[in-house]
Amino acid sequence: MALSFVVFDVGETLVDEATAYERWEAEGATTFVFADRDLHADALACFGVLRERGLRLGAAGNMYAHHEDFLRPHVDFVGSSERWRVEKPAAGFFARVAEEAGVPAGEILYVGDRVDNDIVPALAAGLRAVRIRRGAHAHVDSPPGTVTIDSLAELPEALADV
Ligand SMILES: [Mg+2]
Repeated sequence: MALSFVVFDVGETLVDEATAYERWEAEGATTFVFADRDLHADALACFGVLRERGLRLGAAGNMYAHHEDFLRPHVDFVGSSERWRVEKPAAGFFARVAEEAGVPAGEILYVGDRVDNDIVPALAAGLRAVRIRRGAHAHVDSPPGTVTIDSLAELPEALADV
């Protein structure tokens, strides 16, 4: 089955959370909403390469609904655990990803940084998965056989292995 959709986790996969938190603290922010400047530097370029290959894109993670807005212009759908009322690693979260994508689970690749919340449950739900090793959970080993990358710049090439 050909891959048709790539869906990204948000925290640490697309967004550099540590930098965002530092910025909010430095600015004395009273509202905490991610914006384009919080994206990892490799995110938008990766989106462009995947789109050139004809893939559609999504972003869905355990997060507040107000974080969805800045992502919406970049992808075909956005989902948050708050709005969907279901959190990873629940199977229902990944069922909702497939519903939003509108394609069979096997045509969807989910990209995430966490083995427990992203990789294991995505595979269990019938999606494909790529682990990105960065952020607070980077020290956790990927399960054997998991396609693992260190940067989204490596993702286009890694698609051949999933
Ligand atoms: Mg994450």
